[in-house]
Amino acid sequence: MSWPNWLPLRADLQDLSPYGAPQIDGVIHLNTNENPFPLPDAVASAITKRISTVATSLNRYPDRDAITLRTKLARYINNLSNTEFTCDDIWAANGSNEILQTLLLACGGDESLVLGFTPSYSVHPLIARITGTPWVHGNRTDDFDLDVESAIEKIEKTAPKLVFVTTPNNPTGNVIPLLDLRRLADAAARKSALLVIDEAYQEFSTETSAVTLIAEYENVVVTRTMSKAFAFAGARVGYLIARPELVHAMLIVRLPYHLSAITQAAAEVALEHQEQLQAEVQLLISERERVVAGLQRAGLRTIPSSANFLLFTGFPDSSANVWQRFLDRGVLIRDVGLAGYLRVTIGSPAENDQFLAVLKEIAA
Ligand SMILES: *Cc1c(COP(=O)(O)O)cnc(C)c1O
Repeated sequence: MSWPNWLPLRADLQDLSPYGAPQIDGVIHLNTNENPFPLPDAVASAITKRISTVATSLNRYPDRDAITLRTKLARYINNLSNTEFTCDDIWAANGSNEILQTLLLACGGDESLVLGFTPSYSVHPLIARITGTPWVHGNRTDDFDLDVESAIEKIEKTAPKLVFVTTPNNPTGNVIPLLDLRRLADAAARKSALLVIDEAYQEFSTETSAVTLIAEYENVVVTRTMSKAFAFAGARVGYLIARPELVHAMLIVRLPYHLSAITQAAAEVALEHQEQLQAEVQLLISERERVVAGLQRAGLRTIPSSANFLLFTGFPDSSANVWQRFLDRGVLIRDVGLAGYLRVTIGSPAENDQFLAVLKEIAA
């Protein structure tokens, strides 16, 4: 769009359009990697109850530092990964996208440089751009794996201040083994760069979490979210795990009282009910394998996924046309802008049945 003269939008933002997948009603949504299962009634009422006790004190600002929530998040990670984090090692915000933005506000800027390996989460370069931080694209192999040798070379050649990787990667679903992350952390450390590891889908993976590297590597930052496995996308809660000095840097640039009392209360209750909220993760993983089999039966190829979505290819028509044919039949999937590929989120068994039925119909 062309901007009017009276609107002093930054010149470097004028060619951007708002980020986001289409929001369409009356179809099944397999396009934004949400957990398809509604919150159990017991958890929903526990949240409502806690919020009603918070409601009477909404005249006051919330705990600016979200100490209780960060302590609970530390405990959650410690249980999963056998680590010893405290609230000093955790920062929380309105979704992991805000975490990434805060990180780039603190460490980015025009004298900094971010290196990422595409295709990956497209919000990373977008946030870099919005914070005025130059972005350098590194490559992945034809099958979207990260070639560590060439990644290390790229780090050495470009000397970035931040290196972004996503594992399991979005939109491809594949993981970077912990040993490779270790080598990337070493290479980044030699350049005094942070290695930022986006683990939005970690709960769907069997790979050891990169949080286990933080005790050894002071330059490793891991970002996580409650939006995916936790079935909590609507509440907007993300967090990072890193050394206390980095958390302190987040405190410098975060907006005062950024995380509302309502959000903090809801997230605390969600963490108290983590088993119930994540009860369907195993089901989603087995559904993922069922959808892989269905796609293969239709003559398509999938990228091995450790997340709650699949990237598939091998259809004769363009991505845009196949996407439209799914939508015409009531199934909204994601065209991630990779020619010849489409991404589908793993839904409930009934939703996956519908996806596979449409697939059969389209392939026939
Ligand atoms: C979904 C997603 C996020 C964003 O999560 P929010 O916490 O909802 O902001 C971050 N990173 C990746 C790779 C994602 O796919």
